[in-house]
Amino acid sequence: MTSYSPFETYLRNLIATAGPMPVSRYMELCLSHPEYGYYVTHDPFGREGDFITAPEISQMFGELIGLWSASVWNMMGMPEKVQLIELGPGRGTMMADALRALRILPAFYNAIEIHLVEHSPALRAIQRDTLADSRPVQWHQRLDDIPPGPAIILANEYFDALPVHQMVKTSYGWHERMVDVDDDTFSFVLAKEPTKGFDISVPPHVRAAPVGTIFEWRPTSEIMMLARRLRDHGGASLIIDYGHLRSDAGDTFQAIAKHAFADPLKAPGTADITAHVDFQALAQAAQDIGARTHGPVEQGTFLKTLGIDTRAQTLIKHSDPQGAEVIASALTRLTGTGPKAMGSLFKVLGISHPSIDALAGLSDQPPMGMAAQ
Ligand code: SAH
Repeated sequence: MTSYSPFETYLRNLIATAGPMPVSRYMELCLSHPEYGYYVTHDPFGREGDFITAPEISQMFGELIGLWSASVWNMMGMPEKVQLIELGPGRGTMMADALRALRILPAFYNAIEIHLVEHSPALRAIQRDTLADSRPVQWHQRLDDIPPGPAIILANEYFDALPVHQMVKTSYGWHERMVDVDDDTFSFVLAKEPTKGFDISVPPHVRAAPVGTIFEWRPTSEIMMLARRLRDHGGASLIIDYGHLRSDAGDTFQAIAKHAFADPLKAPGTADITAHVDFQALAQAAQDIGARTHGPVEQGTFLKTLGIDTRAQTLIKHSDPQGAEVIASALTRLTGTGPKAMGSLFKVLGISHPSIDALAGLSDQPPMGMAAQ
């Protein structure tokens, strides 16, 4: 007899009682179940963990994002108080690096009120340690729990972790892809009936795709909430993630464990499950609300415009040869275009109040003197 983990048993029982569940529900449970969810039970980051994110690769990333935030504050007219909000801060590394860089700009530093949106108690505890020496921090379950006010909202590798729906084209229409279980294993099946009227939600160039095509979409509630906040109270947001500039067909539902791809249906709750971000869909939803969008551009271009090469040179000058090598390889990893690098796989989208007509790194405008840092 096969033995199942408590979480597998829980999922099997759910499916036995209620029938197959949409991929989005499976993903949500695997990541966020209050007892068994991956983010609830793991610290996924770093060499020891399952994957490594840009802020964990190098301090340069968070420092530049900090200075980007300062340039937004300038464009907002330097309000006396501004919320610096981060969605899904992981270990808190990006925020810590950003705040350290911002100490040289006391007027902005003192105006900041820090808000973190994090649902994992384990990660909140790590964030508390990482940010112990900084300004006071407030945690929230959701963006909407934060009181209204002018804001700068940062999100690195957050949207890819939000549940994704997969739709499969058949000769009858688009069917939701579901997770079922047979004797031993979880497997993908299709909802019996096509989702009525889904065709109009599919971009025209994907509508005519052959039978078997997969189209992924995410609910837009989160991005709409974010855009509405910026539209009503001012400010800007920076969304960084892996994904595609244009909406397209394709199956990007994936699991990562110990720095390698894993089967998302095997050992649920023990691997990170994600899907690429559709930047066109995000930008469209934000524009529909009445916010302005900037970019998206590739991460490599964004970081170079903000002056990452200059920052790397400065750090290298003050390092021993071994340290210099680490910095040079971090720079390549963050900005390079090779298959293992993040420079073109990751994209950066800016969203702002309509009155902000350019954001540093996301337009042709000079980056507010950042390269001099
Ligand atoms: N930004 C960090 C971590 C990325 S991992 C970095 O770049 O290193 C995704 C983060 O989002 C984790 O902190 C995870 O716990 C959080 N998260 C995922 N889904 C969430 C949700 N629905 N609500 C709040 N936080 C969430």
